[in-house]
Amino acid sequence: MPISKQIEEYITRASWIRRMFEQGNELRAQYGDENVYDFTLGNPVMEPPPELVERLRVLTADPAVGQHRYMSNAGYPWVRDNVAAVMARESGLPITGNHVIMTVGAACGMNITFKSLLDPGDEVLVLSPFFVEYLFYVENHRGVPVFVETDEEFQPDLEAIEAAITPRTKAIILNSPNNPTGVVYPQELLERLSKLLEAAEERIGHPIYVINDEPYRKLLYDTEMPSSLALFRNSILCTSHSKDLALPGERIGYTVVRPDADDADAILGAMTFTIRTLGFVNAPALMQSLVGELQDVTVDIGDYRRKRDLLYDGLIEAGYECVEPGGAFYLFPRSPIEDDVAFIGSLLEQRILGVPGSGFGRKGYFRLAFCVEEETILKALPGLRASLKAC
Ligand code: PLP
Repeated sequence: MPISKQIEEYITRASWIRRMFEQGNELRAQYGDENVYDFTLGNPVMEPPPELVERLRVLTADPAVGQHRYMSNAGYPWVRDNVAAVMARESGLPITGNHVIMTVGAACGMNITFKSLLDPGDEVLVLSPFFVEYLFYVENHRGVPVFVETDEEFQPDLEAIEAAITPRTKAIILNSPNNPTGVVYPQELLERLSKLLEAAEERIGHPIYVINDEPYRKLLYDTEMPSSLALFRNSILCTSHSKDLALPGERIGYTVVRPDADDADAILGAMTFTIRTLGFVNAPALMQSLVGELQDVTVDIGDYRRKRDLLYDGLIEAGYECVEPGGAFYLFPRSPIEDDVAFIGSLLEQRILGVPGSGFGRKGYFRLAFCVEEETILKALPGLRASLKAC
């Protein structure tokens, strides 16, 4: 076998989206694009905001000298300062540009974080259901993912987290607003989690870093999002502009280490080194210059809220059970039959594409991404109703 056994196994484990994509292509060839309702990917159909388009035009029409050169591995100082100013305002902490690393999306932020923190065998708690790439990001750097179930509402189960902590626990990943469920973790629960982690750190004698993966942090519907940097002393925030500026293909994000986290300076130094050795080198230069001036700009949240309401209300009226998402652009309804894979198969008969919950570590559910055209939702609702009735 020319490829590594581990990668071969990973490809099989992560094959849901690819399988759905291939089945979608078959359906599209048979029925035409407009008659296939694809809710599989978190790839927004929305275009970036007009301020961004205008700024990009200026940057490219009148380029600064050296605009496309390498820079410090951590990113342009002025961009890091601008990001830090917003982070300081939100958290009330003395965050400066020195605590910020510009990254190639949140994915790069998480990889440099794990590369910097983990020794072989170190454990990372992952709350389930989860974004499937976490498994790979942790194992890329010889860590061991330890899965911890969330409760019925997909909120962190503090007792289960406490029980999963061992002397090898190095970090926990929190993802709020969450992919695949859309839930937002409330402040009060996170405060209790923070206390629990502090007590555990005391017990095991070393820090447990809280990796806050927050690419959906600005996509909120009638819900407040507490500052994770303010809540957890040993916190590291990994985020990007993939979703809030609708720029996923441009690969631009940033990572922030809380200034008073244990060994913050050493971690920041390690990240500046690992972004180089992992081959990212630095975040894209043009994109840094672009987002550096747009830290207070966000896509139209009202558009996502309308789509959430349309799909969520439609599902509930049809008789589905579903936790209402407070953020992000995913719904994670309960499958009307236990076998979520079989149910996704029956949705295919209605030319509707979703992803079975098994793909996210939770059987008996399925995920619909509503970052699609409104028309796609409207046209899919009768099929969703029919599939439920047929069960
Ligand atoms: N984390 C979660 C939960 C995501 O859903 C995604 C992308 O969909 C990422 C991280 C990676 O995002 P980025 O494009 O910023 O690398």
